[in-house]
Amino acid sequence: MKADFHIHTNRSVDGVHSPRVMVKCAKNAGLDTIAITDHGRLFPWIEARRLTREFGLLVIPGIEGGDIAVQKHWIALGISAVPQEFSIRHILSHIRNDAGLSIAPHPHTRLGFSDYATLGFDAVEALNATEPGASQKVRNTTHIPEVAGSDAHAGPMLGTAWTEVMAQGPAEDVLEAVRHGKCIPEGTPLPPGEILHFYYLYLRHRVFLHPLDAYRTAKEVIRDMRKARARDAAPDTMNTHPYSR
Ligand SMILES: [Zn+2]
Ligand SMILES: [Zn+2]
Repeated sequence: MKADFHIHTNRSVDGVHSPRVMVKCAKNAGLDTIAITDHGRLFPWIEARRLTREFGLLVIPGIEGGDIAVQKHWIALGISAVPQEFSIRHILSHIRNDAGLSIAPHPHTRLGFSDYATLGFDAVEALNATEPGASQKVRNTTHIPEVAGSDAHAGPMLGTAWTEVMAQGPAEDVLEAVRHGKCIPEGTPLPPGEILHFYYLYLRHRVFLHPLDAYRTAKEVIRDMRKARARDAAPDTMNTHPYSR
């Protein structure tokens, strides 16, 4: 089956379309399974089951964690509670204990973990359609399973990258197949025209029609950046002996 394990809806501050519209677009793009992985927000199982029944396309609940603008990202699929831990090792063990699957998204970029294999991720996103740099061969020296994701933030971005999974469903079987490497990343990065199209849709839907939302988003991103800068600065402060100057 064709699965896309990395999709955002308008429940992400940078997403455009509703979950329902994204499911419809995924169906039209010929996908059999999608995981909804909004930033910092776990998609509810109950809603996933409802959409699965309605559209006959398997919807798996997921989340993309990590501060949206700065911190390294992680994806968890099929979990029922959001990890509250801060360290990535604790987050990964929470996902495992919650019967979930962890994916290291866009491992080549500033926002991705490059040491995903030693950290213990279940799978790595060997192809992320929105980041051309991420389509280079991943340094998957420990041979963990590889998947592809569209990282779509709007409907038209769906369908250029997907994972061929040797499973039929339900969600648990699909995740188990990936855990055992019964999957192949497929597709290509998104054409630049489609990325421009996304910015157009984003400006139209999120900025012009909902300016207050856009203002709140900008504030959130700036707050995240300040938090991360303070965190980065903290170890240096501790290493500097107060009397050494
Ligand atoms: Zn990301
Ligand atoms: Zn994403």
